[in-house]
Amino acid sequence: MTDRRPMIAGNWKMNLSLLGAASLVKAIREGIQDQDSVDVLVAPPFTALSVVKGLIGDTKILLCAQNMHWESSGAYTGEISPAMLSEAGCSHVILGHSERRSLFKETDEMIDLKANAAVELGLIPIVCIGETLEEREAGETFEVLKTQLTGSLHNFVNNSMLPHSTILAYEPVWAIGTGRTASPEQAQEVHQFLRECLTENFDAGTAQRIRILYGGSVKPDNIKDLISKPDIDGALVGGASLSADSFVPIIRLGG
Ligand code: PEP
Repeated sequence: MTDRRPMIAGNWKMNLSLLGAASLVKAIREGIQDQDSVDVLVAPPFTALSVVKGLIGDTKILLCAQNMHWESSGAYTGEISPAMLSEAGCSHVILGHSERRSLFKETDEMIDLKANAAVELGLIPIVCIGETLEEREAGETFEVLKTQLTGSLHNFVNNSMLPHSTILAYEPVWAIGTGRTASPEQAQEVHQFLRECLTENFDAGTAQRIRILYGGSVKPDNIKDLISKPDIDGALVGGASLSADSFVPIIRLGG
């Protein structure tokens, strides 16, 4: 048995107006008042962070950014630093989401730099990895994931030490925003493999403490089967996190 607390995280991506973000977080706050069995996290766009932080108030909802740069300041037009996110009230930051990797050409090396900068500043990284459909069909899933995991956490691997608060998110690219979900068995197989990788690169204690979230078309009707698997510690939710009508039931069923 483990004492990993489940987490349900909502990635709002580049969606919602300020008003929309405010009403969504209010509805989530109200919808989960009586629940305390799961960590709830929201990742609004940068411009909504402060407003959402204000509305989170003294509830336990966690605030997360969707990306950041690894440098602390300087001539990096359009970028945002770890300290800026901290100042905006973030405790977590999503790194290496597949959209960042594919659309913005982020590499494992960049994600490694970001993960280190996040930890140095006291932010908890949610490091995303996942194989494409072609890679899965070619039988390369485990190899690809191992490369992404060790590459995105390279500096931690070198030091044989990973903060136990670090979160991994397994997001098969073919399941993101497609309505196609990995079956609970497929996801469990990968999560178990990732835990073995963590044991190899760090130690068994670390592997047992790190939370591994599943992401890819998570909905109220599939969360229960996914979360029932021993190595699935929660979900990173995209589309269904944009409405309290779907996100609140996911939270309730995910606890
Ligand atoms: C995501 O973008 O992290 C994600 C899992 O999206 P969706 O839930 O929409 O598939």
